[in-house]
Amino acid sequence: MNGNAHIKAVYAEIRRRNQGEVEFHQAAAEVLDSLGPALDRHPEYAGTGILERLCEPERQLIFRVPWVDDSGTVRVNRGFRVEFNSALGPYKGGLRFHPSVNLGIVKFLGFEQIFKNALTGMGIGGGKGGSDFDPKGRSDAEIMRFCQSFMTELYRHLGEHTDVPAGDIGVGAREIGYLFGQYKRITNRYESGVLTGKPVAWGGSHVRTEATGYGAVYFAEAMLATRGDGFHGRRVVVSGSGNVAVYAVEKVHALGGRVVACSDSSGYVVDEDGIDLGLLKDVKEVRGARISVYAEAKPSARFSARGTVYDVPCDVALPCATQNELGREDAVALVKNGVIAVAEGANMPCTPDAMAVFQEAGVLFGPGKAANAGGVATSALEMRQNAARDSWTFEETEARLASVMREVHAECRATAEAYGGNPEDYVLGANAAGFLRVARAMTAQGVV
Ligand code: GLU
Repeated sequence: MNGNAHIKAVYAEIRRRNQGEVEFHQAAAEVLDSLGPALDRHPEYAGTGILERLCEPERQLIFRVPWVDDSGTVRVNRGFRVEFNSALGPYKGGLRFHPSVNLGIVKFLGFEQIFKNALTGMGIGGGKGGSDFDPKGRSDAEIMRFCQSFMTELYRHLGEHTDVPAGDIGVGAREIGYLFGQYKRITNRYESGVLTGKPVAWGGSHVRTEATGYGAVYFAEAMLATRGDGFHGRRVVVSGSGNVAVYAVEKVHALGGRVVACSDSSGYVVDEDGIDLGLLKDVKEVRGARISVYAEAKPSARFSARGTVYDVPCDVALPCATQNELGREDAVALVKNGVIAVAEGANMPCTPDAMAVFQEAGVLFGPGKAANAGGVATSALEMRQNAARDSWTFEETEARLASVMREVHAECRATAEAYGGNPEDYVLGANAAGFLRVARAMTAQGVV
């Protein structure tokens, strides 16, 4: 842990108070590590307990989610919503349904969301939620009953001006539909802006589905452009094969790059002809199959259950799967194979060791808070359309997303340069820029 005595004391208190929540400790350490220069320049924040208040969620909800499976057996899951910070707007952040979800995971995600959302400049606070419910293998009716039970508890904490969930791993348009339906039934209100990620047909925004993947590619493109480079003719590796990964692949191909590998939790595929997006979507989204099925269907592709997708040589790597998926060894392999840029489409996919390897090697590294902010930024665009009872075209919405990503990139660089001297330190830039926006608002709003 770098930083002054105050930062170290705050971090020690986080560990003492949130025992065993290792992902939250990791996310907090990364931010705190970056804040030394900003706090030196702004001593006023030390006296108002900004750091102490930032690291303690405003509200943490944990609740029972009972539901009945198709065989008539009662199941019990645990639901979470951590309302972390509302200095800049209503709590905003997704819901994750995955067996790995626990309070520490939700807090790490919620903490990241505060700074990410601040970076978008769109007036949204930070929050996150979810459940240890495993949607894999569940019928549509089971998913619906689970979502209804989850919302029956959570609805009292939500509202378009209060807390606005969206999707994350395991929560897509179908789940958002069931959650919205139950919210509407209980409250007797058609409150479009209470959830984002809705289908376009009833209040959703164009580009929301694509936004996180597209945004990560725009961010990487902006980093490359600072060195007079771009995606054209570049070999790219994308980890994952979910919503973020799929649309990252699409945008890389649109910009003239070639994605040669992607993965899921069972292994990875290499396809030197370039990943066929139609086939990938069919395998993962329509059939819900393992990624090996892609290789079975395409002669140019091979599947590997051993090693990692980062063993595949590439110019640009886009980790779009999940937290801590890219470790030190992966980073060393990528650098050895000549990677020039890495942008995080997932939340905290690179371990601290891996980030250090990239930074020491001079690899352009875009941290998730900045690089994957396109998803939540487009959620904020959805909220604007809902508030205005308006809907924009795909082209208009995508142009706005692209401009937000350009601004996020520019703000990271400018802040990194101003506070650390190196404009390519996007980690420092993202953390400090997000922090300063939130700290200013918190100071103005008094000790609350
Ligand atoms: N789950 C996404 C994220 O990690 C999006 C959240 C949202 O749209 O509210 O940023």
